[in-house]
Parts: sequence; structure tokens; C-alpha cells
Amino acid sequence: MTDWSGLQDAEGSAASIPGLLGRLTPDSSELWERLWARLCPQGAVFPASLAALPYLSELAARWAAEERVEPLLLAGAILGADERYHQVFDVRERYSAEISMLRDLTDDTLRTLAASEDTSTYVYLLQALMAFEGVDVWDSHLENLVTEEYEISCPSCAADLFVVLGDRDSFATHQDYAIEDDVITTPLRPADPGELSGAPGTLYQTAVRDERHTVARQLLHMFGTATCSHCETDLPIAERVAAAFGRDS
Ligand SMILES: [Zn+2]
Repeated sequence: MTDWSGLQDAEGSAASIPGLLGRLTPDSSELWERLWARLCPQGAVFPASLAALPYLSELAARWAAEERVEPLLLAGAILGADERYHQVFDVRERYSAEISMLRDLTDDTLRTLAASEDTSTYVYLLQALMAFEGVDVWDSHLENLVTEEYEISCPSCAADLFVVLGDRDSFATHQDYAIEDDVITTPLRPADPGELSGAPGTLYQTAVRDERHTVARQLLHMFGTATCSHCETDLPIAERVAAAFGRDS
């Protein structure tokens, strides 16, 4: 049994966490908010966050595919967090069975949500899938597909660039396109789907399987190439995102 009173969460002692966990239902949004605030506020994690993983995986396994979004997203956010606790507690090794189950449950829920309108939840679940597979960067920075923008830097001229992955328009620019008119933009060149392997291949093929055409198109652009609008150097976008946000960066 977990000794919760000996563990810390964002607010101090985690002694009341089991009470919270025991009252959760798929629809108890207020309780879920409180749990997020205690276990993973703004991507920070605590010893109690990791101890909650088996409980979250148990809930996810007990609930139907469309009901288990919250436990999957919270568990994914905990595992995707860039925190040293991961090394300290060796969490992936300790909970390997639970994490593998969470991965399969997430894939099942992605498939089930295929027909729904909610693209944001779909992207957050894809990000959780990457967290369960242990894929750095996309385990916590895939969610920019929701806001349709990444900020990267050009290694040649050091310009900061916006890479915009919109539904209709995708481009790169070093100017503030949100407030300025007539900014200089350069088009993105999408990746060839046949050449995507590893995590990029998994993400793209999952979106195609689930008929998420907008997400699939965004992924092809994100795994493609931008041209710096300042110095015209070609930039592999995913590599620049990893350089900006990866754990080794
Ligand atoms: Zn440049």
C-alpha cells in the first residue's frame, strides 16, 4: 500500500490524495481540476504524482473508451513532464506494465474518438500516447498543434521564427504576423508520408487511421521543412523544435 502521508504533492502532504482518487468519476470535472492542480500544475510533478500512476491506469482500464480521457491525459502529462523525479524514481521501469497498458488504452480511445468533433482532445491524447511511448519533445510539445504555432530559431542567422500550422495556411515568418500586416512569409514543405518512420510515422499513421485529416496535414508540415524568412536557410522544423524544447537541449 502507498503511504500517501509520507509523499508530497503541489500543496504539501499528499495524505488526502487517496480520498480524491476514490471519488473520481468520468464526469467529476471539479475533482479532476483539483487533482490536476495537486499532481501536475503547469507540467510540474511531485512524488505523489508518480505514485498516482497505477491508480490512474486502473481507472482508465475500468472505464469505457470515451470515459477515460481524463485519467489518460493526467497520466500522460505526469510522464511527459521534464522533471528529474523521473530519473530519481526510475518510474518507467517501476510502472512498465501500467505504462504499457496506458499506451494501449490511449490508442483504443483515439480510435473511438475518431468520429468526434473535438480535435484538441484528440491532439492531447496523441501527446499522451507519445508520453507512454517515452518520446521526448512530442510527449509535451505536440499540443502546439492545437494553438497552430511553434517558435523556433534559425541556427544560421539566429532569427526567432514563428512556424504556423493552420488549417488553411502554413508558413514561417520572423515577423509578428499576429499584429503586423504584410509580413514576409515562406511556405513550408511537407514531409513525404512514405518517409516517416518511428514516432513521426506512428503519429501520422494514427491520425490517418482515425480520419483526422487536419491533424495529419499539420503533422506532415511539422515533420517537413521551413525556410527562414530572414536568411533563406532551410530548416527541418521538428529538429528545431527539439533543439528548443528537448530534454537534452
Ligand atoms: Zn535565418
